[in-house]
Amino acid sequence: MRVTVDQDLCVSCGFCVDNCPEVFSWNDEGKSQAIAGEVPEDVEEATRECIEGCPTEAIKEI
Ligand code: SF4
Repeated sequence: MRVTVDQDLCVSCGFCVDNCPEVFSWNDEGKSQAIAGEVPEDVEEATRECIEGCPTEAIKEI
């Protein structure tokens, strides 16, 4: 799976960065960004939890 963060929707709550730092990190604008390539298999479940837990539904599977 691959994911992306809609920069217009992210409110920098930190949920995804805290729960899945292998995939999400802060960018220079203080928003979450996702790794560009495939999500490693061992963190797919954590990534799905981030998708479901994001308060603004900013994280999309692509
Ligand atoms: S959970 Fe959603 S709103 Fe919070 S930092 Fe991640 S992408 Fe942004």
